[in-house]
Amino acid sequence: DGLSTITAGAIDSLASNFPLCMQNLHSTLRANSHLKHYGRLQYTLFLKGIGLSLEECIIFWRRSFKLMTDDKFQKEYKYNIRHSYGDVGGDSNRRGRGYTPYSCQKILTEPLPGPGQMHGCPYRTFTQDNLITMLQRTGINDRDLLKTVKEDVTKQRYHVACNRVFEHAHKREIKKVKDDGTWGANDLDTIVHPNTYFKRSWLLKH
Ligand code: SF4
Repeated sequence: DGLSTITAGAIDSLASNFPLCMQNLHSTLRANSHLKHYGRLQYTLFLKGIGLSLEECIIFWRRSFKLMTDDKFQKEYKYNIRHSYGDVGGDSNRRGRGYTPYSCQKILTEPLPGPGQMHGCPYRTFTQDNLITMLQRTGINDRDLLKTVKEDVTKQRYHVACNRVFEHAHKREIKKVKDDGTWGANDLDTIVHPNTYFKRSWLLKH
C-alpha cells in the first residue's frame, strides 16, 4: 500500500493522521527543532511502527534538529535512533528488531513528563484548558464532544476520550465503510495503540 515507502519528507503531511500524543511531539519538534530524550524515544518508535526505515528515520531527525551541528548529531543522537531500531546495542534478543513501539497502556502508565518534556498522552498530561486548545487546533470544535472529553479525562478515562475524538474526526469515513460493508466490527474495535490510530486513520482517509 502507499505506506510501504514512507520517506522522511512525508512525515509532515502524515502528521494529520497521528493521534494527539504524536501530533504533540511532532509540533513541538517543529516549533523547537528539538525534543527531549523520552519524547524522541516515544516518537522514534512510533515512526518505526508506521513503517519509516532506519535510514529515513535518521534523515528525519537530522533535518529536524535544524540548529545542531552534524558532529553533535552523529555523536549524541544517531546511536539512540539506531538502538531503537535494533541496529546497534541491546541484548541478542533485541538485536535486529530493536524496541517495540509503545502502546497506550505503556504511555499512560509511565511517569508524568517534567518541565520541557513532551512525551506521554496529552489526555493525561495536559491541563484541561491546554487539551481543549490543542484539540481545537486540530479542527475539533464540536462543543458537546469537547464537554464529553472533559468528563472522560476527569474520570481518568484517557483512551476513551482519544477513541471518541477519533470517531468524531472520522465520522463520515466510518459511516461509509460500515454502510458499504468493507469494514466489520473488528476493524473498528477500540484503539489501544498509537500505531493502530494512525493506520486506521490513514486507511479511512485514503
Ligand atoms: Fe496516544 Fe493512546 Fe493517548 Fe490516544 S490514548 S493520545 S493513542 S497514548
